[in-house]
Amino acid sequence: MTRLFGTNGVRGVINKDMTSQLALQMGKAIGTHMGGAVAIATDTRTSAEMVKTAVMSGMMAVGCDVLDLGVLPTPAIQYFVKTHEGIMGGVMITASHNPPEYNGIKCIAADGTEASRRDEERIEEFFFSEIPNRPWNQTGGMERVYSAGDVYIDAVIGCVDSEAIRNARLRVCLDCANGASYETSPLLMKKLGVGVTTLNANAQGEFPGHLSEPTEENLKNLMSLTKATKSNLGIAHDGDADRCVFVTSQGRYVSGDKSLALIAKFELSKKKGKVVTPVSSSSLVEDVVNEAGGIIKYTAVGSPIVARKMMEYEAGFGGEENGGLIFAEHQYCRDGALAAAKMLECVAKNGPLHTQLSSFPVYYTDKRKIYCPNEHKQPLMDHIKTKYSPDYRTDITDGLKVLFDNGWVLARPSGTETIFRIFSESKDEEQAKARAAEFEDTARGFLLKAGVPAEEIAPVVKKRRAPVKK
Ligand code: MG
Repeated sequence: MTRLFGTNGVRGVINKDMTSQLALQMGKAIGTHMGGAVAIATDTRTSAEMVKTAVMSGMMAVGCDVLDLGVLPTPAIQYFVKTHEGIMGGVMITASHNPPEYNGIKCIAADGTEASRRDEERIEEFFFSEIPNRPWNQTGGMERVYSAGDVYIDAVIGCVDSEAIRNARLRVCLDCANGASYETSPLLMKKLGVGVTTLNANAQGEFPGHLSEPTEENLKNLMSLTKATKSNLGIAHDGDADRCVFVTSQGRYVSGDKSLALIAKFELSKKKGKVVTPVSSSSLVEDVVNEAGGIIKYTAVGSPIVARKMMEYEAGFGGEENGGLIFAEHQYCRDGALAAAKMLECVAKNGPLHTQLSSFPVYYTDKRKIYCPNEHKQPLMDHIKTKYSPDYRTDITDGLKVLFDNGWVLARPSGTETIFRIFSESKDEEQAKARAAEFEDTARGFLLKAGVPAEEIAPVVKKRRAPVKK
């Protein structure tokens, strides 16, 4: 059967892959699977209403009552679903950080977590089958709910020491990427007594400020504004605000690995325990967690996997290197607003961000990706395993991680794209680069031999990340 769901729901370009017909059939499939009242929310994309109304119509046609929560961050609808008895699940209309022509449909289970693969498979089965409509007197109704954002922000505030934050009289610059957090995150700052300069805090679906992936390249304005306004911190969300990244008072972008390590240390200072993160995270996280008296647990890549492992290990904290942080005390999903609030508490209590980061060890990362047709992914993976497994320690949690004395390389095929990824990390910059190049050459050589045309496997992106310091 064709797979609809990728790693983050069903996504596509509007009126090309993501049509109103598809959204309607998805609504019918989701409604049939959930079989009761369903909450729905959107980010700020231009196509939000088009997709949402089609999904709602489908759900009502199969007898579901719909609660329309309006524009909300993904973690806010997750919190609503989790805290409301009788709600069978949720649907978030978002394509997160993808460009504005995209939109997507993401399902939330009754406990507020991201829908499991098993749930998605059932929805896919219904989607590809004939779904009967209910008779006229058994169709669902729709009710609008306006308070979900406020309730969510109050719950976030309940998870931090708001008095300490208030007393520190902090100032921040906040970049909402004109996305779903444009109301909730400024409200959070206001309620915490934090002075705030906002940018890109309008509900304009075309993301005129910048693309909504919170990378260093997209946050130049936030970086200069944070420095110019002498703010304590810069804060940025992605389009649906399940993620959060930071900028120091000096205007420096802080990589997700570093903020993950810092918040892990902060959480461990309150309560010792396990910290869960994917195998792709920097060894910086493990070093900092070990030093803080915690235990690191590695998982495959993907936030639902991290969340599930956190439940299994009874871990209080976990997260990814892309700014997705999960706090068990609140909910088992990435939460951009709570990540921001925790960082405010951390700075209020422990001092400036750049000072706190200055004691961290420095690692260098080289991330590459090459084109790899789906049918060649497994053979290439096997080839790399055969080459490295006999001589080196390896980890097969996700793809193959080859552990060297002073660093590691992770080779893994993308689950959704025709791409093969190579991450290399070392405290020695040249070593990190050389190993990434070696793996890339191995992969390219194999694909050439397998008959993939040379021009197709030319490097797509070659990116060397700045050193992990300050
Ligand atoms: Mg997101």
